[in-house]
Amino acid sequence: MRRPDRDGLARRDAADPLAPVRERFLLPDGIIYLDGNSLGALPASVPGRMRRIVEDEWGRDLIRSWNVHGWVDLPRTVGDRIARLVGAAPGSVVAADSTSVNLFKAVAAARALRPDRPVVLTDTGNFPTDRYVLEGLADVRAVAPEEVEAAIDETVGVVALTEVDYRTGRRHDMVSITRVAHAAGALAVWDLAHSAGALPVELEACDVDFAVGCGYKYLNGGPGAPAFLYVAPRLLPVARNPIQGWFGHADPFAFSSDFEPARGIDRGRVGTPHVLSLAALDEALRVWDGVDIGDVRRTSVELTGLFIDLVGDACPSLETMTPRDPARRGSQVSLRHPDGYAIVQALAERGVIGDFRAPDVLRFGFAPLYVRRVDVHDAVEILREVMVSEAWRDPRHAVRNRVT
Ligand SMILES: *Cc1c(COP(=O)(O)O)cnc(C)c1O
Repeated sequence: MRRPDRDGLARRDAADPLAPVRERFLLPDGIIYLDGNSLGALPASVPGRMRRIVEDEWGRDLIRSWNVHGWVDLPRTVGDRIARLVGAAPGSVVAADSTSVNLFKAVAAARALRPDRPVVLTDTGNFPTDRYVLEGLADVRAVAPEEVEAAIDETVGVVALTEVDYRTGRRHDMVSITRVAHAAGALAVWDLAHSAGALPVELEACDVDFAVGCGYKYLNGGPGAPAFLYVAPRLLPVARNPIQGWFGHADPFAFSSDFEPARGIDRGRVGTPHVLSLAALDEALRVWDGVDIGDVRRTSVELTGLFIDLVGDACPSLETMTPRDPARRGSQVSLRHPDGYAIVQALAERGVIGDFRAPDVLRFGFAPLYVRRVDVHDAVEILREVMVSEAWRDPRHAVRNRVT
């Protein structure tokens, strides 16, 4: 492939409709951040919002803030902001709890709607927490990602998948799998951890039954941000939350002795909302104001494609695991090398931040709101230098941290 010149890439960056959106983030100097798929960058307006909610709302207005500052509604207000990004109607998404807990709620609710079908079908590439949660709930059948559709039979009540594989970046066909699941009488639960904010998702148009997703990856809500739960509006009257907490009650402050589920998506709630984290996520989601998710996808495809091409050229010892067909990948690119951990450490020391997934995967996320083509170019130059010099062989880089 002909090496694109850096100036040409810089011109394309300047002409990108997302160029002004990068200004909405606080990005450290001297860092090329390719890990927004693990922890999104900090939106510039979040620190001010945190100061206000801590000092003015909590500190001054105290308990009155539940009403006057809308704390009690945050799961819904944030849910509606997310709904727009995943093709869902207002009132069908709630922001609460973690992805793992929401997956538990969604799959338990789906199973209860298909009581005569014991099996939950997933794929062997699914994220470990998803596998663990499913196995704690049901008989799980795990098949290779490309065999999912063929494995949906009359024993399967729920098909539970992650759209974009956290390890390889491979993307499932949500339309087709959901259709096949429904035709066989099963329900579809999708995990959007690597989709929401990274590519267009059309939950309603795909007729998805339940979905969950993550607040701290491409939605930039900060470490441990609340996750989200989607329930198709047609299922809201019948889907039962297996964790019957007071905030999922129709009237929590009636302190009734009987549990009566809330009518709408509020039935997906459990306990007291995580107000500070929800406020950070709420503020972070403002960076999406006026952003077209179609533009996000176009830039994402270009960034990931550029990275795949440049790495293929510059680093022949790194194997690309991510599909070359843009329709079959999300917004990350994964490379494979037996010394992947040390290479990722050597890169970080040189200001290029990606991450490592055992046993041998180097993972690079391209958050289109703040990653530019020139960043891709420069990151590959640094990666090439690390590979050619074998700088990663320094024993310092072999020391494992707890979080990789
Ligand atoms: C990141 C991620 C999670 C995270 O789950 P938490 O409960 O929020 O820690 C779950 N599933 C997938 C597929 C993920 O990528």
